[in-house]
Amino acid sequence: MNSRNVAILSLAGVALAFGITLAQREYKSGIVFPEPKVITPGEKPGDAPSDATVLFDGKDLSKFVNGDKWEIKDGYAVCQKTDITTKESFGDVQIHLEFATPEKVAGSGQGRGNSGVYIMGHYEVQILDSYDNKTYFDGQCASLYKQQPPMVNACRKPGEWQTYDILFEAPKFAEDGKVLRPAICTVLHNGVCVQNHTELIGGTYYDQPAKYEKHAAKLPFRLQNHSNPVKFRNIWVRDIATLVGTAPEKK
Ligand code: MG
Repeated sequence: MNSRNVAILSLAGVALAFGITLAQREYKSGIVFPEPKVITPGEKPGDAPSDATVLFDGKDLSKFVNGDKWEIKDGYAVCQKTDITTKESFGDVQIHLEFATPEKVAGSGQGRGNSGVYIMGHYEVQILDSYDNKTYFDGQCASLYKQQPPMVNACRKPGEWQTYDILFEAPKFAEDGKVLRPAICTVLHNGVCVQNHTELIGGTYYDQPAKYEKHAAKLPFRLQNHSNPVKFRNIWVRDIATLVGTAPEKK
């Protein structure tokens, strides 16, 4: 071994010996966060986690106003007669539900397998049989009705069960009704992201442009009756809130 190699080896030895002190110092923000609550996730995808409120487990719709108006059989509910509205109110929320548009295809466009999730009673995530059924794009399945089409059409065939996983952030209003933060909606349709943090420009309407009207911080959501026998099952919700940390005091 020549003297140059000996020198390199010696340097490496010194670096190794002081490895810990020579290592980069770990960055810590200093922000003190509350500990994330431990929950138990559902056994398989789509199952309710331990901190969810189950709104419909296939037995009854007693957690909904007018729930008794819908038919229940074989673990699912069939839309008919009237909208149904949750008895509980929600603000920022995660909603899981499963639906199936009628197996027997009838009607076309907006008349085929139409229902919808009216979050806070104002903001509709459209439910429609958009499998081989054209309509205006901002009114097809998984659109934020008349505001934003889904990024892709992820519909399954009529009669097949489909999933919605919706993350919704409620709008915030000033005293005078000014919008401080718009409603924001993310939708996974059959596990596919079709709305990604989409900002709503107001309530969704059939007959007028979108607009905001000041409302409570928490409100119920409803499932629409559009005279099509859309089926629903496995409906659960979770309140969602970003953990807020405390920044260290500045010296
Ligand atoms: Mg609808």
